[in-house]
Amino acid sequence: MKVSIIGGAGYVGLITGLGVASMGHKVIAVDVDELKVKNLQKGISPIFEDHLESLLSFCNINNDITFSNEPSQAIKNSDLIIISVGTPINSEGKIDLSQVNSVLESLIENLNPFSLIVIKSTLPITAVKMLKDELNKHYKEGRDFEIVSNPEFLREGRAIYDFYNPDRIVAGADSMKSINILKEFYAPLIERNLSIPNEITIEDKHIPFIKTNLPSAQMIKYGSNAFLANKISFVNEIAQICESVGANVNEVISGMGLDPRIGNNYMQPGPGFGGPCLEKDLNALIELGRHYDLEATFMSAILDRNERQVDLLRSKLNNIVDNESKSRIAILGLAFKSGTDDTRNSASIKLIDKLLADGHVVTCYDPVAISDIDNQNFTQYGDIYDCLEKTDCVILMTEWEEFKSLDLKKTFEKMDGDTLLDMRNLFTRDKVESFGFKYVGLGS
Ligand code: NAD
Repeated sequence: MKVSIIGGAGYVGLITGLGVASMGHKVIAVDVDELKVKNLQKGISPIFEDHLESLLSFCNINNDITFSNEPSQAIKNSDLIIISVGTPINSEGKIDLSQVNSVLESLIENLNPFSLIVIKSTLPITAVKMLKDELNKHYKEGRDFEIVSNPEFLREGRAIYDFYNPDRIVAGADSMKSINILKEFYAPLIERNLSIPNEITIEDKHIPFIKTNLPSAQMIKYGSNAFLANKISFVNEIAQICESVGANVNEVISGMGLDPRIGNNYMQPGPGFGGPCLEKDLNALIELGRHYDLEATFMSAILDRNERQVDLLRSKLNNIVDNESKSRIAILGLAFKSGTDDTRNSASIKLIDKLLADGHVVTCYDPVAISDIDNQNFTQYGDIYDCLEKTDCVILMTEWEEFKSLDLKKTFEKMDGDTLLDMRNLFTRDKVESFGFKYVGLGS
C-alpha cells in the first residue's frame, strides 16, 4: 500500500514509518521539522532507540521510505494516511490540538478519495469527533474517507521491539471497510512475513487484532496509560509507608507479586513517572470527565501523588546536605527512563530545576540524553567520573544499565561527600555502605 505518516520524524512517527516500510509498504514520512527531515534524508536519526540506526539504513537502502516536509503530495498519493503528530498539554493542563488542527487543514486541502485516515496519536475522544465533523463538511465519509483509531502502545527504549512484537493491535472504527483495510495493512506483521534482522522479532508471536468502535479504541489507550501511571503512584506511596514502618519495599513487592492477580510488573518505586504520555493522558481523562460532568477524582489523585514524588526526593536530600551552604550535587540520568534520550517531563529535570532554585551547584551525566538547561550552576559532562568529581552527593535518577555497573570505589574516591541517593533501587544498601557511603534508597 502507499502510506504517508504525518508527524513522521517524531518518536512514534519515525518508528512506525520504518516499521511499516519494512512490512513492504511504500512510505512517505512527512514532518514540519525541517532539520529532522534533512537529517533523516542523510540517514541521521533525530532520536535514540535501540536498533534504530540499522533499521533506518535498511529502509533507506531498499528505498522503502522517503522523508519530506511537504504534506500535499504525500496525502494526495496515499491509500492510507497515518497521523502521529504530538498532542502535548498546554500550560493550563489542557490538550494542545494545534498540531492536529494543522494536519486537518492539509487533509481538507489534499485528500484524494478514497483514503483511510489512521489515528495513531493519542487523541481525545472529542477531537476525533471534531476531525470527522470537519472533514464531512468537505468530503463524504464512507465514500471519500474513513477514520480508524489505531492507538500506539510502544515503550520508548524498546520502541522497535514493541513495533514488531505488539501485545495487540487495536482498531476502532465505525465500519468493517476500515477494519478490513487496516487488517490487510498489518497482515505482514500479524503473519510474521517480515524481512528484518531476526533479533528484533519473536517468530511465533501471536498478535491479537482487536476490533472495536472508535471511542472504545481510544479508551483502551487512555485506560492503559492511566492504569500504568496508577501502578507507579501506588508503589511509590507503598514505598513511602514502608520507610516509616521499617519495611523493605523490594520484599513487599516480591511478596505481593506472587499473587497472580497482582504480579510484579511495572511495580518498581522510582522518582515518579515522566515522558510524553502518562501525565498528558491522565489530564485528558480529567478533561473528558469535566466535559461529561463526571469527576475523575481517581485520575487527579494519581497525578497529585506523582507531582509530590520529586518534592519527596528533595526533602530526602535536604535531610542530608547543608541547605545554608551550596552543595555540589551529581545527577546520574536525565532521560525519563533508560533506553531513550527523551527528557520530556523527566523527573530528573524537575529535580535539577528545584536544586538550582535552592542554590546548589548541579553536575549531570546521561549516556545519551542532552539537557538544554541554561544555568551557570549547571554542567552536563560527557564522562560519568568527571561529573562525580568533588561532589557532595550523587543521585541516581535513571535506571541505565551503565549505572548498575558504576565503580563504587572510584565514585567514592572522586567525591568530596559520601552520600548516594538511589532513586531506582539499583543497588543494595549493604553493597553501597561497604564502600563507605551513606545510602538512601526508596522504601527501606
Ligand atoms: P513527537 O513530538 O516526538 O512527534 C510529533 C512530530 O510531529 C514532530 O516531529 C513534529 O515536528 C511533527 N509535526 C507537528 N505538526 C505537524 C504537521 N502539521 N505535519 C507534519 N508533522 C508535524 O511526539 P510523539 O512522542 O511521537 O507522540 C506522538 C503521539 O503519539 C502523541 O499523541 C503521543 O501521545 C502518542 N504516543 C506517544 C508514545 C511515546 O512513547 N512517545 C507512545 C504511544 C503514543
